[in-house]
Amino acid sequence: MRLTFHGAAGRVTGSCHLVECGGRTLLLDCGLVQGGPEEEQLNRAPFPVDPGELDAVVLSHAHIDHSGRIPMLMRQGYTGKVYAQQATTGLCEIMLKDAGYLQEKDAEVETRKRERKGLAPVDPLYTVHDAERALRQFHSLRYEEVHEILPGIRVRFRDAGHILGSAIVELWLSEGDTTRKLVFSGDLGQPSTPILRDPALIREADAVLLESTYGDRQHRSREDTLEEMREIFAVARAGRGNILVPAFAVGRTQEMLYVFNQHFSDWGLEHWRICLDSPMAIQATELYARHVELHDEETVALRERGANPLAERLEFIRTPQQSRALNRVRSGLLIIAASGMCQGGRIRHHLKNNVWRKDCHVIMVGFQAQGTIGRKLVDGNAYIHLWGEAIRVAAQVHTVGGFSAHADQRGLVEWYRGFENAPPVWLVHGEDEPRVRLAARLTALGRGEVSIPVAGEQIELGKLPARCGAGTPPGL
Ligand SMILES: [Zn+2]
Repeated sequence: MRLTFHGAAGRVTGSCHLVECGGRTLLLDCGLVQGGPEEEQLNRAPFPVDPGELDAVVLSHAHIDHSGRIPMLMRQGYTGKVYAQQATTGLCEIMLKDAGYLQEKDAEVETRKRERKGLAPVDPLYTVHDAERALRQFHSLRYEEVHEILPGIRVRFRDAGHILGSAIVELWLSEGDTTRKLVFSGDLGQPSTPILRDPALIREADAVLLESTYGDRQHRSREDTLEEMREIFAVARAGRGNILVPAFAVGRTQEMLYVFNQHFSDWGLEHWRICLDSPMAIQATELYARHVELHDEETVALRERGANPLAERLEFIRTPQQSRALNRVRSGLLIIAASGMCQGGRIRHHLKNNVWRKDCHVIMVGFQAQGTIGRKLVDGNAYIHLWGEAIRVAAQVHTVGGFSAHADQRGLVEWYRGFENAPPVWLVHGEDEPRVRLAARLTALGRGEVSIPVAGEQIELGKLPARCGAGTPPGL
C-alpha cells in the first residue's frame, strides 16, 4: 500500500499522484503541466504506470492542471473509469474538449514551423476526439457518498469550495487486515468565496496531502480587496482607457461576474461596457447557474429574490467576429477573458491591442505560474512577447490577490487544524518557497510530522501508524 508523488511536487501544475493498493493502481488527478515551453515538455513524459494496466482515476476537480492529461491516458490504452463529482464531469466536458482543440492548434503551428526547417511534424498531445472518448469513461459521484471503486478501495468526495464540483478526496485503502485513510485536499478554496460553500473540515486521517499554492502568504481581507477594486475603477475611469481582466474561464470568471453584479453602482460600473469574451467561460457560467444544489446560502437567497447574479448587465461575446470588433474600441470597455495566465485564449489579442497604451488597466485576479505571460506582467516586465512580437507594457498592472480561489496560509493551517488526530502531512501543489514557509507554520503547531516531497518520492502507507478509529469508512 503505497503512494508515489508524480506531479505537482515542487510546482503548482501537473497534479498527479499514484496510489497502489492490493495489486491495484489508481491515479489521484492527472493534470497538465502549464507554464513555458520547457515546463510543458514534461507533459510528453511517460505516465508513472502503463495506462493499459491502470485500474482507476480519481479526479479532485476540473481545472486543467488536475484533469488535462486524462485524454492522453485513453490515447495510450486506459479503459477504466474516471471518478469525478457530478459538476466536475460537466466542467470537464467543456474544458477537455477545449484543451484538445488547443493541443491540435498548437501542434499545427509547431508542425508548420518545423516543416520550414526540414524537421518532422509533431503530434498533438491529444485531439478533440480523444477528449470526447475520455468523457465517455467519466463516472459521476455526489458529495458525501462513500463508493467502493475497486476491491479494497473506497472513496468519498467532500466540498473543497475551490470551483464548482471541486472535491477533497477521502480514500480508504485496505490490504488484508490493514486499512489506512488518505485525505487529499485537492485545491482548497477560501472561506466566503461567492457562490460556493466553504471547504469541508475532515476530522480524521492517517495521511494528508495538502496543497500549498499560497503557503507563504496571507490574502488581503475581502473588504480591503473590494475597496482596492473600487479604487482601480475610479482611477481607470479618470484615464478613460480600457480595462482587461484575465481570468480562468472556470471559477474566477464566475466570481468576478458575481462581485461586479454585487458592487455595480458602488464601483461605477454603469460607465463601462462589460464583456465576457470567452466561449468557454460563457459555457462554464451557464453550468454554474444550473447547479443550484451546490450554491451557498447567499446565492440561494439572491436567486429567491429573483436576481441572476451571474448574467446581469453584461454582454456575452461568443463569435470571433464579435471579439475582433472590440479591438477598435479605445475606451470604456471592461473585458473579462481567458486564459487566466494569458498563455492562450482571446485575452492575448486584447493585450496586444491595449497593453502598450498607458491609459489601459490590467487587473490580475488569479495565480500566475512561473514562465507565463501573466507572471511577466505581475513581475513588472517592460515587454511581453505575443506571436513572436515584443510588445511594450505601458498599461497599469494591478495585482489583486484577495480573490484567490485558494486558501492562504492561515486558511491552510486552519483546515489542517480541523483534523483531531494529528495526521502526518505532505505538502504538494506549491513552489518550494511556499512549501517551506507553510511547513514551518504547521511544524510549529506541534502536531503531525510535515514533509516536503519531491517527484518520485514514496510513502509506504501501510507502515504508517493507524490513527483512524477502526479504520473503516462510515456507513460500511
Ligand atoms: Zn484548481
